[in-house]
This record gives sequence, C-alpha cells and structure tokens, in this order.
Amino acid sequence: MGMALKDKVVLITGGASGIGEAVTRRFIQEGAKVSIIGRSKDTLAKMKGEFGENILTYQGDVSKYEDNEQAVQATVEQFGKLDVLVANAGVFDGFAKFADVTPEALSEAYDFLFNINVKGSFFGAKAALEELKKTNGNIIFTVSGASFYPDGGGVWYTASKHAQIGLMRQLAFELSPSIRVNAVAPGGTLTALTVIPPLRPFVKIVDNDTKASSIKKRNILQLAQMPEDHVAAYVLLASDESRAITGEVISSDGGLSVRGL
Ligand code: NAD
Repeated sequence: MGMALKDKVVLITGGASGIGEAVTRRFIQEGAKVSIIGRSKDTLAKMKGEFGENILTYQGDVSKYEDNEQAVQATVEQFGKLDVLVANAGVFDGFAKFADVTPEALSEAYDFLFNINVKGSFFGAKAALEELKKTNGNIIFTVSGASFYPDGGGVWYTASKHAQIGLMRQLAFELSPSIRVNAVAPGGTLTALTVIPPLRPFVKIVDNDTKASSIKKRNILQLAQMPEDHVAAYVLLASDESRAITGEVISSDGGLSVRGL
C-alpha cells in the first residue's frame, strides 16, 4: 500500500458504512483527507472518533441540494480544496416485484429511491463542480452490476443504476477536459444496504448467510464479496495514475460480464 492519494481531498457520500466506509478507510491510508456525508449521527461519530483530523463528518441527506452544497463548503473550509467526489450513497428496492406492488407504492418507491440514487448523484456532482474545476479533479459514481444486467434488484434499483451510467457518461463528455468522471460497479456485496420503506411490505428480508451464498452463486469467481474487495478500483480512479481514464466503468463483480447475474 502506497500513498497514491497523498494530499488529495475527497468527499464521499454514504462514507460511514459498507462500501463507502471501506473506501474512506483506504483513502485515508493512502494519504487523503476525507469528508463524509451520512445519515446516522452515531456511525458518523464513530468514524470521527477513529480518524480525528483526517476526517470531516457531515450529517445530511444527498437528496437535498443544500446538504450537498454545505458539505462541499465545509470540506473546502476545513481542508482547503476538493479533488474528488465519490457519489456513493444509495438505497435498495429489495428485489420487489413490479407486478406485486400497488400503483401507490410504486410511485412512492420511485420518488424515494430515485431521489437518493439518481437525484443525489446529480446534486453531488453539481455541488462539487466549481471546486473540482479548480483542482482538475474527478468524480466517481458507485453504480452496480444492476447498471448492466437484470436481476440485481427490482425495476426501481435497476433503472436507477442504469440512470447513473447515463449521468456519468454525459458528465464525462461535458466536463472534459478539466474533470474526469468514472464509476465503479460492484457486484453483490455483503453490506447493510437498506430496503426503502415503501417497498418493505412487498419483499422478503434475507439473513446474511442466505445473502452470502446467493452472491457466491451469481459470480464465476464464487466470491461473497466484501466492501474491501472494491476499494482498489476507487483508489485507481481517484488518483493521478488514471489521468487518461474518463467515462469508464470498472466492474468489480467476480466476472458478471462473462455470464450475467
Ligand atoms: P450501505 O447501506 O452500507 O451504504 C449506503 C450509505 O448511503 C449508508 O451509509 C447510508 O447512510 C447512506 N445514505 C442512504 N441514503 C442517504 C441519503 N439520503 N443521504 C445521505 N446518505 C445516505 O450499503 P452499500 O452496499 O455500501 O451501498 C453503497 C453503494 O453501493 C450504493 O450506491 C449501492 O447501490 C451500491 N452497491 C451496493 C451493492 C451491494 O450488493 N451491497 C452492489 C452494487 C452497488
């Protein structure tokens, strides 16, 4: 492990748990100062306690523009600049079946999930834009195997993860040559990714062992992937080593493109 991100300042949404937490830990080890946006006071306080002056925590909601804006502002006040945005916060639909869900729940679920997974990604990018221009920085979206293949979620999650790819590619085009824009697409990973409230009555909540064995069966490397399995892809995209890479997705999924989900 080197210091690939020495003196970089990074804002990570959803950086206090799961994949975002693993990225936060590794980025700090690689020499970055990291600012995280999260929902839970307790998990944010835990990260602050552990990483002290290398981290800034901000309690906020990515689906509100002001929260993204204030987090960017606080980051620049604290650390002097912004080099990288990792738009990672997300929620899940629990594989809820389109045919089972009432039109009311469909609509509520759409607004709830798209507001976070899609609008939250738009807002993060917009709020970070001016600061990233100043540093010739970059944006990394956490997308998913569900950005490419069916059965990584239900229609809400799958459509939202496809939408992030469109956002990423168009931004890579529009923000060039000053800002690079890429994505990491994890496959099924053992985290506490939340099923949104409007769909909870329509889904089965599975325990971790069942989840692990189902994830294993779905990828040809037979990995029950952990958040740490994906962090190297983020380090590469965030660092200057990848200065020629933009508009690209690194899949970190045990080989889904070979067989699908
Ligand atoms: P997670 O629940 O541990 O992490 C998601 C984080 O986003 C949490 O910290 C949560 O507090 C935060 N968040 C949710 N809504 C928010 C909001 N409105 N405002 C601010 N923060 C909010 O789960 P995870 O699996 O680590 O998910 C991270 C990303 O990885 C998501 O975008 C998810 O879609 C993606 N992903 C997960 C998997 C998987 O199998 N776990 C696979 C592919 C992609």
